[in-house]
Amino acid sequence: TAKSDHSGLAVAVEGADDDTGRRRLTTLEEFRAGLDRDELVLHYQPQLDVATGAVVGVEALVRWNHPARGLVYPDGFLSLAEHAGLMGRITLQVLEKALGQCRDWRAAGLGLTVAVNLSASNLHDPSLPDHVADALARYGVPPAALHLEVTEEVLMRDATRATRTLDELRAMGIRLAVDDYGTGYSSLAYLHALPVDDLKLDRAFVAHCDTDPRSAAIVKSTVELAHNLDMRLIAEGVENEAVLDRLRDWDCDLVQGYHLSRPQAPERLTPWLLERQVTPVAS
Ligand code: C2E
Ligand code: MG
Ligand code: MG
Ligand code: MG
Repeated sequence: TAKSDHSGLAVAVEGADDDTGRRRLTTLEEFRAGLDRDELVLHYQPQLDVATGAVVGVEALVRWNHPARGLVYPDGFLSLAEHAGLMGRITLQVLEKALGQCRDWRAAGLGLTVAVNLSASNLHDPSLPDHVADALARYGVPPAALHLEVTEEVLMRDATRATRTLDELRAMGIRLAVDDYGTGYSSLAYLHALPVDDLKLDRAFVAHCDTDPRSAAIVKSTVELAHNLDMRLIAEGVENEAVLDRLRDWDCDLVQGYHLSRPQAPERLTPWLLERQVTPVAS
């Protein structure tokens, strides 16, 4: 029987008599084992300052390096993990790896910020800010070098509770971004009240803004909205030069996308970074 993604855990427990259920049960058990065996890896996608052309940061994107199946992308395990209550552990592992990498890059003179994605359950965990502070101190990474991303959908679902956690993180000097902006259902009132620094406009609006007038209108007015709220606008999903040129014309702040680089393992990204203009470490 077909059940929705939202019942991931229930399917895993009850669904042993159908194929989907059996597959998910295997996956959840395998995934737990994978977590124990430290099989999560991070790929990093560069973020470019449109005005200067410098690479200023990276976004950390998690993959599961499955011993037999190879790299499994977030679509293949994150919603299951969230329903199984594993996001706390995942986020802590991701933070460790991302901050360790950020420290290494900084030691090599590359003053990159690193953005980490948070899930809904992370915002309900009152111990998250302390864990983040502890990890920053252990790796010697300044809080301003860490950016945290929360999707618009998650922010809106429980704005009051989310705001409390986000306020604490922001008070530490960490930058916060609304991810996939434009795909949720946030009202301007929430946007007005939320303690965030950056809007990441979803790639659905960015991808064809060079040819589609409606996308263009949305991008332009969202840049203006962000700037009027003292936020930066980050465009995701920049796949060609024409889009990048438009975004530059429209005063967009940062861009990310396949046109610049796909997310890559740090061993591959580091040489790429060393050949480009990268923000130096502030002394
Ligand atoms: P996201 O945070 O919005 O990340 C952007 C996604 O778009 C990434 O997919 C990235 O590979 C992809 N992308 C980047 N540039 C382009 C482009 O030019 N064109 C297209 N078509 N796609 C592009 P990915 O890595 O599969 O991640 C999917 C989602 O999984 C992320 O969306 C994020 O919501 C979630 N995710 C990834 N890593 C983590 C993590 O460590 N923790 C949490 N909680 N969520 C994560
Ligand atoms: Mg993101
Ligand atoms: Mg996004
Ligand atoms: Mg997304």
